[in-house]
Amino acid sequence: MSTCPYPPPAHVEPKALTSDQVSVSSCRDGCQRTFFFCPACRQANRTLARYCRSCGHTVSFQGSDLAAENQFSIDNFNEKGYSYSLTGYGIGEVRVLKSYRGYLFVVGETGLLVFDVHSPAEALAGPLRSPLGGEFLGVSVYRDSDDEVLLVTTSKGVFQVSLIDLALPNQRQTLESVYVSQPSRFVSHEAIAIAGRVYVLEHENVRPKSWLTCIPDGLVTEFEQISRPPVAVDGDRLFFFTERQVFLYECQSGKLINTKSSDLLAARPPAYDAEANTVFMVGEAKLWRMELSGESPLLAPLSTLRPLQGASIAAKANRLFVAHLGGITILDMFGTKKWDSEYKAASDGLPPQVFGNLFSLTLAGERFGRIVRIHQVDDPDKSKDTQFTDASLLCPPLFALGRMFVAAGDQLSVYDFRSRGEKAGA
Ligand SMILES: [Zn+2]
Ligand SMILES: [Zn+2]
Repeated sequence: MSTCPYPPPAHVEPKALTSDQVSVSSCRDGCQRTFFFCPACRQANRTLARYCRSCGHTVSFQGSDLAAENQFSIDNFNEKGYSYSLTGYGIGEVRVLKSYRGYLFVVGETGLLVFDVHSPAEALAGPLRSPLGGEFLGVSVYRDSDDEVLLVTTSKGVFQVSLIDLALPNQRQTLESVYVSQPSRFVSHEAIAIAGRVYVLEHENVRPKSWLTCIPDGLVTEFEQISRPPVAVDGDRLFFFTERQVFLYECQSGKLINTKSSDLLAARPPAYDAEANTVFMVGEAKLWRMELSGESPLLAPLSTLRPLQGASIAAKANRLFVAHLGGITILDMFGTKKWDSEYKAASDGLPPQVFGNLFSLTLAGERFGRIVRIHQVDDPDKSKDTQFTDASLLCPPLFALGRMFVAAGDQLSVYDFRSRGEKAGA
């Protein structure tokens, strides 16, 4: 018999669970928290578990999570969501929503909240504050041999807290600083962990200049202008770029490749397609691609004839999803049009999101507010809208474990996609 893996005070007695078909589930009549079943013995384990607590089999939440991703279709989207007020937490406007192994991170301007994806009514931890002040930029997880370290980046530095400790009751929930910026500098984007090291990009405003540092003090490079958001790519490499230059850093060998761009590259996040091992960027005149498999990667324009105004992008499985002022267009990786929304609705500039068989974009509402529109990858003409009256939507929706999260204004809204195997009301 499987029981809920979470300790008191979640339950006084271990909670018996009914094993269903899905590998990732939650303690529905008990503590609500996310767990996954061991493929060998069907015992329920915590999402961070590396070995089954019952049979000792090696287990990984991530595999179960990915297997479930494709089950969600638009037909199963439940438009009746739930909204939770974030006002009482005092974290300011939400800048980033992110999830990791059943955890949901809500990053506000001045604080961080940690939830379980299945239990957004009450935070597991937080608000966590920065000991040095500054604006919160994002979170990432650094996984080492015996811990999962949550890295929290603010404009003044990088901080850490153990994710395992955070989820335990009565633990000290404070951020410990691992990197502090010089007073004249600002951290540009959230720190990224690659191959056991943590990298941070910083800039100075007076004469736009930037630095890439391997924490704590390994200066990698110094360059003109301010970096756009970086991305970790295949082969333990870090890709980053400015308006005029593109960089690819090999973290193991220390080799840095630098290419000039003939187009002005926009301050929009790049899109990385892991299957095609290609990074895409938005330029003023064209969309650009850089295939990263070869010895010396080249920056090449996509063949798309007319510029897609106000473009923001996402990439997956040899497809580029381009949200723009005229809707959303799907291109192949060389720029040939595969599908176009053909509706006249303006993207608000936030990047589209791709999750399993779904993709989303955010639009300015017709008269006020915002619209979150979801399409289906294998049948893109199919779509569904959710309207938000509050116009302050600073980050795209987050899809995690078959749920969609939207942070608009001071509300966190949650929508479910019932998977095919589950019955209504289950
Ligand atoms: Zn439970
Ligand atoms: Zn087991």
